[in-house]
Amino acid sequence: MLSTNGRDGAGEDHGTIVLVEDDHNIAELVDLYLRNAGFRVLQAGDAARGLELVGQEHPCLVLMDIGLPGPMDGLEACRELRRRSDIPVVVITARDDEVDRVLGLELGADDYVTKPFSPRELVARVRAILRRTEAAKRPSEEPLSIGPVTVDPLRREVMVASEPVALTAREFDLLAHFVGNQGIVLSRQQLLDAVWGPGWFGDERTVDVHVRQLRRKLGDALPLATIWGVGYRCG
Ligand code: CA
Repeated sequence: MLSTNGRDGAGEDHGTIVLVEDDHNIAELVDLYLRNAGFRVLQAGDAARGLELVGQEHPCLVLMDIGLPGPMDGLEACRELRRRSDIPVVVITARDDEVDRVLGLELGADDYVTKPFSPRELVARVRAILRRTEAAKRPSEEPLSIGPVTVDPLRREVMVASEPVALTAREFDLLAHFVGNQGIVLSRQQLLDAVWGPGWFGDERTVDVHVRQLRRKLGDALPLATIWGVGYRCG
């Protein structure tokens, strides 16, 4: 069961949502409300098809009914989704006593609605979650500082005690990441993923080289500790 009606909808595009729900009436109702809210909706009647659509279409959110036909129920499908990605998941459940499980760490659903639910309320929850995840993805635009070092992400400027310091683009990104994650031990691999990007296949020593440059340019102003055998910690 596949509905792509949202494509020729009102022209708004707030992203694609995969809706996994075997109750046709509920699915159609939710589909209608989401399309009216500007989403493209792809329906799946069972968990396997739902996971397949998520893999193919890279939706911004998944709505998952718990009671589904076939070998895999919604709980198991959530678990599988969590193994693969951190896509937001809203669970649709018919039973109040399932709520603790679906919101628990194990399944990590972002929110839930209990049947019967108001489609309007569901759309409001979906919007709230997407706003939250979008905000979390956006890099901070406020200047950050640690000690005498100030990093301005918008101007891409670094000052030490009000004196500008010239950094390369990569040095700047690395410093901004350190200053934005103060007090946290970051492994070289985490730094590669965050600053160089997950598609970058390079040696972890690249990180050490850039750290040496930062230390040379910023000197004692930057409180950056080497955590032996792990990586680095700023502050
Ligand atoms: Ca069901």
